Amino acid sequence: MTVHVSPAIIMRTWEFGESDLMVSFFTPEMGLLKGVAKGARKSRQRFANCLDLFCLSRLEYERKREGGLFSLHSGKLMQVFPGVRSGFSFLSLGSYMLELTEILFPAGVAARRMFALLHAALAGLDAEKQIDRLRILFEAKAMALGGYGFDLGRCCVCGRIYQGEGRAVFKPETGGIACLKCGQESIRTPGLGPAAIKLLHEMQSTSWDAAQAERLNTQAMSELKRVMKLHIEYRIGQRLKSAEFLAD
Ligand SMILES: [Zn+2]
Repeated sequence: MTVHVSPAIIMRTWEFGESDLMVSFFTPEMGLLKGVAKGARKSRQRFANCLDLFCLSRLEYERKREGGLFSLHSGKLMQVFPGVRSGFSFLSLGSYMLELTEILFPAGVAARRMFALLHAALAGLDAEKQIDRLRILFEAKAMALGGYGFDLGRCCVCGRIYQGEGRAVFKPETGGIACLKCGQESIRTPGLGPAAIKLLHEMQSTSWDAAQAERLNTQAMSELKRVMKLHIEYRIGQRLKSAEFLAD
């Protein structure tokens, strides 16, 4: 069987057997994988610090039989994101990012753009102080990459093109917006102003750096937070465990 060498983000680890470590890791070419690092808890030499949660490491791994676990041969640490561990809110958001990635991207499927996004988001979290904004940006991009982007171009009921003016309401069951003739603002269908809709469109469609440079206004942010929460709950159909630790 082929020996793979790939950059990988460490997503989870569990103690396994006497001295082994089970590791789930996210790679650009093969998505989420799971493998065993033999003896990793006894001797730290082969895997010096490279199997710590959130790290970017270059891993060498091989599958012994079809459908089985991978064996990790060795690893080299490429990037640590110490800021992710610098406080509870950072750690919570980092864990949430990993969990959302795991849910959106099934094991073994190539996920180059998601890998790049997760890497950029961890680097952002390492440096960033405005973590609310980072969270929304990550959510918008991850959902779009996972096939659950928001439909913002027209009213999802009457089909009228949204011209970028006036308020609209979000309809969770369609993942889109409706005009105020077709929907009313409520807790289940919260309103979005033009600034929030434009921002969301840009978050979904521009590069990470361009989207990060967008100016945010507080009202647009609070509208987006509400809508994003409903959208993720509706589409993913389960409450993310790590979301409980995030401030609303
Ligand atoms: Zn309408």
